[in-house]
Amino acid sequence: MRQKNEQVWPGEAVYCPACGTKLERTRVYGRERGVCLDCGRIEFRAPQLAAAVLLQDGSGRILLVERGPESTQPGKWSIPAGYVDYGEEIRAAAARELLEETGLVATIGPPVYVATNFHDPAKVSVCVWFAGTITGGKPQAGSDASDVGWFAPDGLPDLAFDTDSDLIARLQKPDNPGIGA
Ligand SMILES: [Zn+2]
Repeated sequence: MRQKNEQVWPGEAVYCPACGTKLERTRVYGRERGVCLDCGRIEFRAPQLAAAVLLQDGSGRILLVERGPESTQPGKWSIPAGYVDYGEEIRAAAARELLEETGLVATIGPPVYVATNFHDPAKVSVCVWFAGTITGGKPQAGSDASDVGWFAPDGLPDLAFDTDSDLIARLQKPDNPGIGA
């Protein structure tokens, strides 16, 4: 059986970003990668990095956003999250995405979960979920979110991502194992 990293994932670069030559799929450094036979560049494709903010109120409800029409899985709900920009500090990205999607200002606390998202094979990502504490703002959907709401863990709406579901399930365990894979 092929290992997961031996799959040909959709969305591979076809042309060399440095010189424009068509890349050759070549086995190098342990797996097939796009290699430029002209300038020697090797495409080390990496997952995108994402940051999410877990907000819980005093009764254990969790803040979720409804995904807007331009999002993947519109109409489903997720923990506020987004991609970290190149050069952006990850906690700053978490706070920025939260503000954009929910109108809420929060201090970003420790990481509570880390997982790889495989739901879109062309955009595999690694997400770090941080605990957050609201310090300002008021809930108002923005950016690619169409609604914001607090939900009890036993009354969740339809969630977009199994990694959010996994984290919320872990939170319900009395022996919460904390950060997991
Ligand atoms: Zn090249």
